[in-house]
Amino acid sequence: MALAIHWFRQDLRVADNPALAAAAKHGRVLPIYILEELPDGAPSPGAASRWWLHHSLAALNKALGGALSFYRGNPAAILAGLIARYDVQAVCWTRCYEPWRIARDKGLKAELRAKGVQVETHNGSLLWEPWTIKKPDGAPYKVFTPFYRKGCLQTDAPRAPLPAPPVDGFQDKTGAQSLQQLGLASADWDKRLAPHWQIGEDAAHQRFQHFLQEGLPHYKDGRNFPAQPHVSRLSPHLHFGEISPHHLWHAVRAIAPDREGAHFCSELGWREFSYYLLFHNPDLPTKNLQPQFDHFPWAEDDAALVAWQKGQTGIPMVDAGMRELRATGYMHNRVRMIAGSFLVKNLRLDWRHGERWFWQHLVDADLANNSASWQWVAGCGADAAPYFRIFNPVVQGQKFDPDGAYVRRFVPELAALPNKYLFSPWEAPAQVLRQANIQLGATYPHPIVDLQISRQKALDALRFMKEQI
Ligand code: FAD
Repeated sequence: MALAIHWFRQDLRVADNPALAAAAKHGRVLPIYILEELPDGAPSPGAASRWWLHHSLAALNKALGGALSFYRGNPAAILAGLIARYDVQAVCWTRCYEPWRIARDKGLKAELRAKGVQVETHNGSLLWEPWTIKKPDGAPYKVFTPFYRKGCLQTDAPRAPLPAPPVDGFQDKTGAQSLQQLGLASADWDKRLAPHWQIGEDAAHQRFQHFLQEGLPHYKDGRNFPAQPHVSRLSPHLHFGEISPHHLWHAVRAIAPDREGAHFCSELGWREFSYYLLFHNPDLPTKNLQPQFDHFPWAEDDAALVAWQKGQTGIPMVDAGMRELRATGYMHNRVRMIAGSFLVKNLRLDWRHGERWFWQHLVDADLANNSASWQWVAGCGADAAPYFRIFNPVVQGQKFDPDGAYVRRFVPELAALPNKYLFSPWEAPAQVLRQANIQLGATYPHPIVDLQISRQKALDALRFMKEQI
């Protein structure tokens, strides 16, 4: 019996999956997932991401009527084993863009073709693949606005989404493992994160429908307010490919051809830009894009790093964000920028500390988005926020959490403070603190740095860096 293998990777869905549709055209499909042995230098998925992956695979397996076969190990060896056991005509997969995967897939494709097996790879994850967008002189863009407006929007429109193909699934009953044997599940993470998320393709579509009604109508301005329901929270679903950007793009443009829809699409454009940057700069996760930052005098301060990680810096807006991350596996974008700025500017700690912590704790941890965003926050990336623009987390809180709902939710020990002091409890008179049942240094920390002094030190460090060049 002739088969086509569909190798699921970051496309854990059935609808709008061009590679799966291609496999289905061959007849019976052997759908597989491989928990890969990683080559040196490839970052292994963080704990929150593994937790999500477990549940996403369970949902996908259900959607495929239990036909998904699971493996762990070296994909080349596993595919070779399947080809030896079954009459495999073709192997299909959705392209991934992590530098190590691009290199590995290229070799694998050649190996499989040498065995006489067709290999069909498709784009199911990006609106515009990185090599399709170039400046008129052929060089890659370095700035978002021309990349998006002159590059993406002036080239071919993203293809329309495809319907779910009928999949006649065949399960490998001899060599596969169970999902449990992959060891991705975790009772601890389940307890913490499960109340906050519904996972899988159906859940992604439900979340999107909810966003279209509740979030999109005021997205452009509302997306900055962490206590408001105006962001989609689709990032983990997009990372694991439970819903395609093509589906989002076309649905939003049809329903909201206004400034709200355009702004949402431009945020998808930022996601494209991150992948573009990673493709053209494979060292993006580890090396400063602007080499002058190799001379930046980062501080070494383990205690400050731990305080930041635990949400115990004494700066309420930063602590709320870091605690949201630990409690839910997600942090609102505005607060990612505030907490990130505080780490790399007020604490002067290397952005790679932040990148690694987010990688472990975000359910949407994504090599392209995380590294591009951290470089953006640190001022060393492409089209980055300049290092000298330093967020004041007190002013940010007053502006974007005006009634304090976000801080009160994640820093409940400050809940009884009046708004006037909620973002800077160290300024509250002793009597106000007493009435709110707060003892600074005991129930909530004193700020670990003075915001004005640390701001000046950051600017001095920037000047020092510039003098080294
Ligand atoms: P929405 O506002 O609903 O946006 C819709 C989608 O557009 C998002 O799901 C995302 O795919 C994309 N998007 C939105 N904003 C951005 C952005 N600034 N950059 C790139 N894509 C964007 N995003 C990740 O997906 N994974 C990460 O690991 C990640 N790490 C980050 C680290 C830092 C320090 C910062 C400042 C940002 C990071 N982001 C990351 C980008 C952004 O914060 C998230 O994509 C966004 O908060 C996800 O929430 P949402 O789905 O509700 O976004």
